[in-house]
Amino acid sequence: MTGSASVPTAEVGQPLVELRDVQKYFGSLHVLQDINMSVARGEVVVVIGPSGSGKSTLCRTINRLEPIDSGTITLDGQPLPAEGRALARLRADVGMVFQAFNLFAHKTVLQNVTLGPMKAKGVKRAAAQEEAMRLLERVGVANQANKLPAQLSGGQQQRVAIARALAMKPKVMLFDEPTSALDPEMINEVLDVMTSLAKEGMTMVVVTHEMGFARRAAHRVIFMDDGRIVEEAAPEEFFTRPKSDRAKDFLSKIL
Ligand code: ADP
Ligand code: MG
Repeated sequence: MTGSASVPTAEVGQPLVELRDVQKYFGSLHVLQDINMSVARGEVVVVIGPSGSGKSTLCRTINRLEPIDSGTITLDGQPLPAEGRALARLRADVGMVFQAFNLFAHKTVLQNVTLGPMKAKGVKRAAAQEEAMRLLERVGVANQANKLPAQLSGGQQQRVAIARALAMKPKVMLFDEPTSALDPEMINEVLDVMTSLAKEGMTMVVVTHEMGFARRAAHRVIFMDDGRIVEEAAPEEFFTRPKSDRAKDFLSKIL
């Protein structure tokens, strides 16, 4: 496995996330076509591609917000459960941070982070709060713990969203364009938190067009177009020597 200098090398062995021959349709739209992808424990994979290429759908299938039509997805060797308690456990194992800040608007920052562990994992309030404060400290917003989300900047809210996902102690974190709704000056504070997670060995799948982040933190870049994985390579190689015309064309528009 190739890795950039700053992040630890991903483990070899059984992949943590594996998609085999995955097909998904929205009506007649074949939104995911023959997707084969595996993510090693500790690996950071950046997914890029044009709007509408299926990146968000790919993320949503991994925590089963979207069912697939055929193929298999396994997490830590187990097929994704379809429903019930097993599905709730899966959701705890797969943390997700979306583009739009999706915090609970009427709960404080602290409550946003403690709610999941208390409800889904039966963690006692005091223990949940202690862990939440540790996580808020880690993402640099501990001093905002008693505020409502609307009182925070977009960058702070997104860092709370990361803390909230981490509070469930996920095996893998999915990020779907976590900085694309942010004002430019707030992008780096969120990317810095993500980079530190990568350095600590978190397994991550990150949809982003932030090339600096990809170069700094990704082991591998996957380029999607029209529902397919068109190309995958180490970041340096992908950005300097893309192979397909579609990747070249895409990079010429965003770089
Ligand atoms: P990306 O994240 O790369 O922009 P998406 O995964 O959001 O792409 O969407 C891929 C395609 O699937 C697009 O054509 C989009 O319009 C379509 N699509 C996404 N979600 C739905 C849905 N719930 N119902 C129907 N079509 C959808
Ligand atoms: Mg998307």
